Amino acid sequence: MAGGSGGPSLRADLLLTGFSEAATLAGPPGPRRGEALGELSIVEDAAIACDRGTVVWVGPERRLHREVRPRSGARRRSFPGGVALPGFVDAHTHVLFAGSRESEIGRKVRGESYLSIAASGGGLYRTVRETRAASPQLLFSEARARLTRMLSWGTTSAEVKSGYCLDLEGELKLLRLLPRLARATGMTLVPTFLGGHAYPPGAEGEHEGYLRELIDRMIPRVAEERLARFCDVFCEKGFFSAEESERVLRAGLAHGMGAKIHADEFSVTGGAGVAARLPAVSADHLLETPASDRDALARAGVIAVLLPVTPMASLASSRSLGREMADQGVAVALGSDLSPNSWVESMPMVLGHAVHGGRLTPSEAIVASTVNAAYASGLGGVAGEIVPGRRADLVIFDLPGAEHLAYRWGTYPPKAVFLAGREVLP
Ligand code: ZN
Repeated sequence: MAGGSGGPSLRADLLLTGFSEAATLAGPPGPRRGEALGELSIVEDAAIACDRGTVVWVGPERRLHREVRPRSGARRRSFPGGVALPGFVDAHTHVLFAGSRESEIGRKVRGESYLSIAASGGGLYRTVRETRAASPQLLFSEARARLTRMLSWGTTSAEVKSGYCLDLEGELKLLRLLPRLARATGMTLVPTFLGGHAYPPGAEGEHEGYLRELIDRMIPRVAEERLARFCDVFCEKGFFSAEESERVLRAGLAHGMGAKIHADEFSVTGGAGVAARLPAVSADHLLETPASDRDALARAGVIAVLLPVTPMASLASSRSLGREMADQGVAVALGSDLSPNSWVESMPMVLGHAVHGGRLTPSEAIVASTVNAAYASGLGGVAGEIVPGRRADLVIFDLPGAEHLAYRWGTYPPKAVFLAGREVLP
C-alpha cells in the first residue's frame, strides 16, 4: 500500500496501537456457519488506523508506519496488551418500555410461568399498561439511559422492537423515538415493528379483529412513514399461532419489511417452520425447536438469534440450543432480549451465558455477537467487522485474549469504546 515517491498514501486521523490481538472477523460476505462460525481472523501485535470515522487499515503494528501516513494533528491512543473487537451488535432488544417488573421475580421463583403471569394481567400486559400511559419524553429518557449503559458494555449497534402499546398510535409513538435515540447516543439502531407481540388487552378472544388491524392499518402506516426495517411477531401458544404469524409477516414483506419471528420459546408452535418457509431473516429464541426445524432453518439460510439470558430470567428449565444449532449448520447470532422480563444490558454477560448455557465456544459466541448479529439486524457489510471501509465502531478490553470475554462471565467492562472513531468510553 506504500505510495510511489512520497511514502504511504493512506491517511489516518486516529491511530490505535499496542494491541496484543485484534479480532477482525474479516471473512467472506454473509453470516458465518460451520467452521467459519468459530473464525475470529485474529491479527497479533495489531494496530488499527481510522480516518473520518472509518477504519482504513488494520494489521501488524510493525507495518503501520510504512503503510499509513498520519494527518497533522492525528490522535494516537495506545492500549498495551489490549484486545480489540468490533463493537457488539445486539440482534434482539425491547429497549422501548416503561416501568419494571421486579415484583414478579418472586412469583417466577415459586413456579409461576411467564405465560401464566401474563394470563393474569401481569408480565407483558402490565408493561403495556405502563408504556401506553408514558409520555414520549419519559420513554425517550429511559431508553436513552438503557442504550448508554449498553454502549458502556461495548454494544455499538442494536435492533430495537416496538410492541408494548399494541395500538396504532402507541406503536407509532415508540418507533418515532428511534431516530432521535440514534442521534442522541450515536449508536446504530435498527427499528422493528412488533405490533404482533400479543393480542391487546380485551382482544384476546377476538383474534381476527386485531389481525385485520395489524395487516390493514398498522403495517401499511408503519411502512408509509418508513419507521421499521423489520416486522416481527410472537408465535407462541396463547399468542399468535403459526398461521396467524405467517399472515402478519407476509403483510410486512408485502410492505418491504424483512421478517423476524419469536419462535418456539416455551413450546413447539411451528414458528421456526414459518421462518424457513418465508424465509425470514431470523428466527429468535428457539429453545424448543425440534431437530427437523433446525435443519429447515439451515437449508433456508435463516439466522438463529439465540437469547441465552432469557431462559435464566424467565426461570425456565430450558437452555439455548446453541451447540445443536451450530452443529446442524445454522448461522447463529446473539441478542440480549433486554426487556422488563430479561433486563440485561451487557453483551459480555450474554456471551457468558451463550458459552456456559448454550455451549457455543467462546470464539463462536464472539462471531455470533458481531458479524452474524449484524447480518441478523440488516447490518451485514456495515457493522460487526474491523476491516477497511467499515465504520470505526470498536470495543477494547484489557484481557489476555478475546476468549477470556466469555470465560470471565461478563464481569469485565471494556477499557474503551469507539463510535465512528469517537472515543465514548472512558
Ligand atoms: Zn423478544
